Amino acid sequence: MTDTKDAAPTHSPLLPTYARYPVTMDRGEGCWLIATDGRRYLDFGTGIAVTALGHAHPHLVEKLTEQVAKLWHTSNLYHIPGQERLAQRLVDSSFAYQAFFCNSGMEAMEGSIKLARRYHAVTGNPQKYRIITVEGAFHGRSLATLAAANNPKYLKGFGPKVDGFDNVPFANMNALRAAISDETAAILLEPVQGEGGIRAASLDYLRQIRTACDEFGLLMVLDEVQSGMGRTGKLWAHEWAGIEPDIVGSAKGLGGGFPVGAVLAGEKAAQGFEPGVHGTTFGGNPLAMAAANAVLDVILEPGFLAAVEQKGALLTQGLEKLIARHPGIYEAVRGAGLLLGLKCVVPNGEVATALLHAGLLVVPAAENVIRILPPLIVSEAEIAIALDILDKVAAGWPKAEGGKA
Ligand code: PLP
Repeated sequence: MTDTKDAAPTHSPLLPTYARYPVTMDRGEGCWLIATDGRRYLDFGTGIAVTALGHAHPHLVEKLTEQVAKLWHTSNLYHIPGQERLAQRLVDSSFAYQAFFCNSGMEAMEGSIKLARRYHAVTGNPQKYRIITVEGAFHGRSLATLAAANNPKYLKGFGPKVDGFDNVPFANMNALRAAISDETAAILLEPVQGEGGIRAASLDYLRQIRTACDEFGLLMVLDEVQSGMGRTGKLWAHEWAGIEPDIVGSAKGLGGGFPVGAVLAGEKAAQGFEPGVHGTTFGGNPLAMAAANAVLDVILEPGFLAAVEQKGALLTQGLEKLIARHPGIYEAVRGAGLLLGLKCVVPNGEVATALLHAGLLVVPAAENVIRILPPLIVSEAEIAIALDILDKVAAGWPKAEGGKA
């Protein structure tokens, strides 16, 4: 009998849901990822806006290691002090009155949708269950969050779309108001669309949505899974508009790389939940809470968010110079803080691949944009290295017929 243990597998044992770059990361140090072949990559993708404090941040390592040795999981049958602490800190630093913890962005948004619907059910308006959403959104891959975002590419083949979502054009207040009916429960959007290509809702648009919600008794639900936790230079992106939403979904940066999500509810919306109506086995377990509390320790340090804003401005200026130098490659920069999108002239996927080969990680998004999402602890020197790689890749781009790079 032949021993086939070491034979190369003929096919992957993984279901083929991802198209992956041919790179395997071995370890991380701050803003850098080191591959199994020893190559170093400057990580300006942060695992899609997740590793907000970079890799192996000493404070996170310390707090998680401490918790690993103590207690991992108990379920929500018992009190979890880390949850109470994290919730209190989130409440103290935001519009929120109460929080619910889960494990991912999709769960945070699914929970937010359920809370919005149930708020109306328990306050005497069970007919109000529909939610207005905007084109270009991304809220996750559950059946309801897919229906909310209404992206045909992701809905195809998954059967009847979950009912209850009215998708309207982005940044069009007339269309949004026209979609409001007696059945409308809430308006849901990302303050800055991530997957949609770093498309920021204007502050005025956000304020007008708040006004419309107040006028018609609707809840304003924000998906801050990607834009929250300091990425734009404020803890929550909606703070730039000076408004208070009713519900916010958070995840990604919240755990700094540990899977954790949260539904934050204002006092009014919080009425929607009571014991037994929503839950998750893993949500808010002691390990996840140790990670998120450690992330907050750093992000809430005085001056941290101001530094994010300042580094975002520096990076934006640098990108604007690159656009002027390479108008045949890069077209526009958008976003806020360290949640930036560089719209490309040439195909964004090819740019992302070329950058990877040159040692810089970014993440493609819709509208031919590459997302530039460095760790919030990035240094000015690392920003300069990234700009240099973006410059070199553009300068070496094969020239199109009659075009110029
Ligand atoms: N909402 C937004 C704005 C996102 O960017 C994402 C993920 O990219 C999600 C929700 C879903 O989060 P997750 O992939 O953790 O389920």
